[in-house]
Amino acid sequence: MLVVLSEGADPRTVERALAGAGLWCRRLQTRGAKGPAQLWVLPHSQEVSLEILLAIDGVAAIADSPSPHPRLDAQVRPAVVAGVRFGVAEPPVLLAGPCAVESAEQVGELARRLARQGVRFLRGGAFKPRSSPYAFRGHGEVALGWLRRAADESGLGVVTEALGEGDVAAVAEHADLVQVGSRNMQNFALLRECGRRGKPVLLKRGMAATLEEWRLAAEHCLEAGAPSVLLCERGIRGFDGETRNLLDLGAVALLAHVHGLPVIVDPSHASGRRDLVVPLARAALAAGAAGLLIETHADPGAALSDGPQALLPEELARIGAPPAREASEPRGVQS
Ligand code: PEP
Ligand code: MN
Repeated sequence: MLVVLSEGADPRTVERALAGAGLWCRRLQTRGAKGPAQLWVLPHSQEVSLEILLAIDGVAAIADSPSPHPRLDAQVRPAVVAGVRFGVAEPPVLLAGPCAVESAEQVGELARRLARQGVRFLRGGAFKPRSSPYAFRGHGEVALGWLRRAADESGLGVVTEALGEGDVAAVAEHADLVQVGSRNMQNFALLRECGRRGKPVLLKRGMAATLEEWRLAAEHCLEAGAPSVLLCERGIRGFDGETRNLLDLGAVALLAHVHGLPVIVDPSHASGRRDLVVPLARAALAAGAAGLLIETHADPGAALSDGPQALLPEELARIGAPPAREASEPRGVQS
């Protein structure tokens, strides 16, 4: 939202009056520039009626700038995937499973143990993005069938990653939720192919992506036909190697409470350490996460990938009861 000042009005006086009404602004025009000054109302401002704003001395008009992601803003809330509701005011949803699908038996046993922990979606990669070409890159399409069967036998949904455009058809056939990985967040051809398949998308945040880039990537999926997009915060690149990534819980709180978007948090890839997964999971729920994506393995020491960050399925119980939810409506964004 923009506040346009009357000719000759002193921007600082108007800014002070707006701040008094709970609006925090950034000036868009410098003092020497021609034409009336404009103030951009920052998203963490309060919602104030137009009448009150227009009554402030020096305010000539209020302009609404169109959102660059109208479909994301209008996404149905809560988002419903395979009958499960994801939303700021909904009970948080657990999505868990191994980093990589290693065998039919592995996911079958894990699914049974995870279902007993209240998990609703079984995760596991058939197509694995790996930094090294020599690391285990997944069993491919055959693993999608193992994952689907294991999930069906235990009454779970399936979330799994499509690594390239060519994987999307098979992944969409087996999954309830198609995962786009961090490294692919701005692979626009992949995003659009996911959208065209008409399946909900779990969109992981790129490790150096701004929130607006992330929202725009979600908009690509929706514009191409995805029924819904769940954003997944999995940590951004930090400067300290003691955790694998830097979990951006400020982003989670902002997206959940200001934009009203369902955000899933992945504390496993965020920390890279099993000892930090439970505390980060709890913090994520307190910040407003609609769900948690957590890597689990029956024998983390023998995992083919990401063993150091894997929990035993029964350890999910340590996350405990989620904090009470506020049933409040999102405030909406002053764009
Ligand atoms: C994963 O979820 O297995 C994964 C590879 O995640 P990310 O894209 O966040 O690294
Ligand atoms: Mn992993």
